[in-house]
Amino acid sequence: MTNLSKTVRGRLKEIAYIGRRVPVQCRESADGTKKYLFELSENRGFVESVFIPDEDRATLCVSSQVGCKMGCHFCATGRMGFHGNLTPSDILNQFFSVTDSHLLTNVVFMGMGEPMDNLDAVLKVCEVATADWGMGWSPKRITVSTVGIVPGIRRFLEQSRCHLAVSLHNAFADERVQSMPVEKAYPASSVVSLLRQYDWSGQRRLSFEYTMLKGINDDRRHAEALLKLLSGLECRVNLIRFHSSKDAPYQTSDMATITAFRDFLNAKGVRCTLRASRGEDIEAACGLLATQRALDE
Ligand code: SF4
Repeated sequence: MTNLSKTVRGRLKEIAYIGRRVPVQCRESADGTKKYLFELSENRGFVESVFIPDEDRATLCVSSQVGCKMGCHFCATGRMGFHGNLTPSDILNQFFSVTDSHLLTNVVFMGMGEPMDNLDAVLKVCEVATADWGMGWSPKRITVSTVGIVPGIRRFLEQSRCHLAVSLHNAFADERVQSMPVEKAYPASSVVSLLRQYDWSGQRRLSFEYTMLKGINDDRRHAEALLKLLSGLECRVNLIRFHSSKDAPYQTSDMATITAFRDFLNAKGVRCTLRASRGEDIEAACGLLATQRALDE
């Protein structure tokens, strides 16, 4: 920028840098879903983002960490281990540098990592995305997902107006802990108790993610326990088919079981939908994000 003085250019060099990094790879699914691979600066590794176009919306699923510490057994990212936090600019770069950036209507923090374990960066991104001085998006366009880190949820709810999604997957503590180690530190019951202290009747939405695992969490007993846990709480439940990856010791429930589970909850007044699976053929579906390069290392 030779139109600026040398002094100003020197100062800019000290306080700013151009952080935009284009994806190093993009794989496209037969259903239009695209999985982008980003290389982070300074050899900090790789992360993935998934672009999911729909009739009336286009969602980007972003990563907040390289790998993850939470170790959920059904998740490929969990099996990678933890390799570091993303900075706000690493996360925002995913918004801006996917080729479909101009089409985005929504962003979900459901990619690699546990957002509440990198909350400073996630809150900063929510602020940039929703502030008038930033992107000016409505907070309704952003959903942050968590396995249920209680202090993180409390801070997130106080410092942001974006939607919250909690990965539940089993309402029985003794069963949940077998696939989600976080249950030991923050039982789902304590997460739900905290959530009951907030008002969910307004614009902000609370949802629970529930992956249907054959013979593990999908029978009537589980549906009844879920109903009891969430009873009276303004929320919705999203059922997700399990997407099998290498070494995963689970299978997805069959369609009839999933439909019965969904219909039972709806009949009892808990809004429940089955989320469409997208991008399974390119390992972009829920629980499948794990950069091959990280796994190869
Ligand atoms: S499901 Fe989410 S929190 Fe659990 S290991 Fe995978 S990325 Fe981490």
